[in-house]
Amino acid sequence: MKPEYGYTMPKTLLNKGTGFLAGYTHSLNPYTGCSFGCSYCYVRKMPVSTFRGAEWGTWVDIKKEAAELFRKELRRAKSKGPVTLFMSSSTDPYQPIEYKERVTRSLLEVMTEEPPDFVLLQTRSPLVERDMDLLLQLKNQVRVSMTVETDLDEIRKRFSPAAPPIQARLKTLKALKAAGIPAQAAIAPLLPSSEAFPELLKSVVNRVCVDDYFMGDGSGGRRTRSLNMETAYKELGMEDWYHPHAYRFMVERLKKVFAENQIFISQKGFEP
Ligand code: SF4
Repeated sequence: MKPEYGYTMPKTLLNKGTGFLAGYTHSLNPYTGCSFGCSYCYVRKMPVSTFRGAEWGTWVDIKKEAAELFRKELRRAKSKGPVTLFMSSSTDPYQPIEYKERVTRSLLEVMTEEPPDFVLLQTRSPLVERDMDLLLQLKNQVRVSMTVETDLDEIRKRFSPAAPPIQARLKTLKALKAAGIPAQAAIAPLLPSSEAFPELLKSVVNRVCVDDYFMGDGSGGRRTRSLNMETAYKELGMEDWYHPHAYRFMVERLKKVFAENQIFISQKGFEP
């Protein structure tokens, strides 16, 4: 089903980094809503979604004239001290509408003129590759964090059918690596994967982050419990993967091919 798209004139774009994002001065969301509509998305249980009265994933608001506003806000923030940006905390900056609307690209253009101290781009979309020209200008002040929750596309389809295939994400990570753009694979949330997964990641990144529902949903797993994610794992007969300690098993697997200083856990992996 095609999502419902609308336009909004935002009053502010930069929000203070708090909670899980306390390591950042600000978060930055080019859109409100997300057409990937992942079943495990904790934003489903946040006011932006619950007050909307429409299913998460079925609507997206496009922020109009975002670049002009962002330029002003960024300049003001920079005049007060270091600026570190997390893009994005409650939407995917490279969801399909970005092909046409280019809001994220316009914000990155501003950043190349007024560089922040650091920006993390959190996405699960190969579209980030389109903006490599801008990312290269940001040099080491940028990191792309590509979600790769599993290497098994059948599992990915079960949890986030509208999101891009795993192979396409790995291909993008490879392209970023070849271009010398800092990037990591974020196994977040931890979905069941095969034994070959760490090797596969090793061929495309030098840095991985593992996160799960218990550490990473901003509520100690409460929001995820209300999404009934445990049932989804049980239906697959893979409930062992839905456990507060399951991430340790993944970390042990990763240690066979990654050095310890290349493996990050939960919040640490998303910090500047
Ligand atoms: S891509 Fe991110 S923001 Fe969008 S639905 Fe999935 S988890 Fe939520």
